Amino acid sequence: MTLSEAGALELDAADPGHRELFDVPPAQGGKYPEVAYFAGNSLGLRPKATRTELLEDLDAWAALGVEGHLDAARPWLPYHELLTGPAARLVGALPSETVVMNSLTVNLHLLMVSFYRPTRSRHRIVIEDAAFPSDSYAVRSQVRFHGYDPEDAVIRLRPRPGEDSLRTADVVEQLGGDVALVLLGGVNYLTGELMDIPTITKAGHLAGAVVGWDLAHAAGNVPLSLHDWDVDFAAWCSYKYLNAGPGALAGAFVHERHLGADMPRFEGWWSTEASTRFEMRPEARPPATADAWQVSNPPIFSMSPVRTSLELFDKVGIDVLRERSLRLTGCLSELLTGFEVITPADPARRGAQLSVRVPGGAGALSRRLRFEYGVIADAREPDVLRLAPVPLYSTYHDCWRAAAALTEVMD
Ligand SMILES: *Cc1c(COP(=O)(O)O)cnc(C)c1O
Repeated sequence: MTLSEAGALELDAADPGHRELFDVPPAQGGKYPEVAYFAGNSLGLRPKATRTELLEDLDAWAALGVEGHLDAARPWLPYHELLTGPAARLVGALPSETVVMNSLTVNLHLLMVSFYRPTRSRHRIVIEDAAFPSDSYAVRSQVRFHGYDPEDAVIRLRPRPGEDSLRTADVVEQLGGDVALVLLGGVNYLTGELMDIPTITKAGHLAGAVVGWDLAHAAGNVPLSLHDWDVDFAAWCSYKYLNAGPGALAGAFVHERHLGADMPRFEGWWSTEASTRFEMRPEARPPATADAWQVSNPPIFSMSPVRTSLELFDKVGIDVLRERSLRLTGCLSELLTGFEVITPADPARRGAQLSVRVPGGAGALSRRLRFEYGVIADAREPDVLRLAPVPLYSTYHDCWRAAAALTEVMD
């Protein structure tokens, strides 16, 4: 290990993040009062403002009852619109293309209702073999719903033997004329590989497929340009890098090209245009925006932490965060020299996460890190430890602590 503890502290003084805006949990072991938190790719830490602002929204209910729909300081009826602009800027979309609603897998299903339209000759869905299980279950159930066999219809992309990540050219080669939908993770949850979203999207379109992206590990982690990249649809959750709390509401993107188009969609009273919603008509009049994919009225107290968090990202800016992320993850990467890191070494092909292959018993290892060193890392059994230095609140000293603890434990 080349960087000393004093050196790490110097780097922190020169390149501070925004740790002071977050509640960092106390450590349950080791010699430092706070944890070194590397699980922000799983559940981000709570911004301090979240508590205050959630209580404000909650108290509006106490003070106003039903009148809060219009009279609350942040009125509930148009509340979701407060999130649209910041969410759109975060993923490189137009506000009309973006909506915050439901949870991630639910959004994937609602979007596949519109965008997975299989025919006999074109009914396959391409995912990564290392896709997050929920995505795998979702596409398999969609395939069955349409009367096809998931064993035949779902193509799972595997890295070459001896390799851990997917090569873009290999992905592109799999996109044949029988593919109806390409649905990949923008950043893979396990390996931390950042996919070449524009190239794969273009190749998918050339093959005649619809291309959607699961951005669970990409949103708030890397800059995105969903509109310019011509992505058909995307969805992401808000509890990982977006720090909006466990099970927080998710985001959805539908490209402008598809807005207002006549396509199948599951609708409810929030799918209809806001201006005539309360005329209580029997038929919906969906707006030509992503709001048309909403179904139910939004849960305000779940939306509140997402709004607080998105406003923070808006203030700091994802490009600035990415710059610090490159420095921080680069530092951790250097500190982990000698360990088997399965995440691509090229910073352009990864976000904030480094996945380390350990000899086995990743769970036991992560418990030792937590209780003996106060380092929180995520274990994927049997042998992957995931470490995400989060540019908003992680420090160089955290990176030093993680590497020092890992080195000690592995010895
Ligand atoms: C975290 C994650 C999920 C979780 O799905 P929920 O519907 O939010 O429970 C799904 N897919 C991917 C790729 C994820 O990383």
